[in-house]
Amino acid sequence: MTNAAAAAPADTDSKMTLIGTAWRRFEVTTGRLDDAARAAFTNGQCHAFALAMHEVTGWPTTALITIDFCLEGDPMCTGVEGDECPCRIGHIVVTRPDGAHVDITGAHAPGTVPSCENVPALKMTETHWKAIHAGRVWRDADVAAARTFVGPLLALLG
Ligand SMILES: [Zn+2]
Repeated sequence: MTNAAAAAPADTDSKMTLIGTAWRRFEVTTGRLDDAARAAFTNGQCHAFALAMHEVTGWPTTALITIDFCLEGDPMCTGVEGDECPCRIGHIVVTRPDGAHVDITGAHAPGTVPSCENVPALKMTETHWKAIHAGRVWRDADVAAARTFVGPLLALLG
C-alpha cells in the first residue's frame, strides 16, 4: 500500500468521510457496522474492506466480474480476452476457507453476493491490484478506515 490514507491511523467511534463511486461521499463512524458503513463499502470502497480483511485473516481477495464486456476507452482495460480484464471488475470480496465470499454485508455462497448474483469470480492477481490502485477509475482504498470494521464483521460471522 502506498497511498497516504492507508497509512493514517483510524480510531473507532470517529466520524469519517469515505469517497466512493462517482466521488460520492459517505459519512461513516469507524468501527460501527451500520447501513452507512455497508453503503460505503459496497459503493466504491469494497476494495479497501477486502484488503483490510485480507490483512487480518489472510483470506485471498476475489474479483467479481459484474461488467459483461470491456468498454472502449476504459483506462483500466488491458484488452485481455475473457473474464480476466480488470476493467470488468465490479466488486471485490475475500474468499473464506469454506468458499464463502465475504464482504461488508456478510458471508455469501458464491454467486449470491448482493447485487453481484451469478457473475464470474476470479482470484485477484497482482495485475488486477495494480489496475485498481492506479487510481484513475477506483478511488484510493481507505484501508485504515476499513480495518476498523473487520473485527465487527468477523464477530457478526461468528
Ligand atoms: Zn477491459
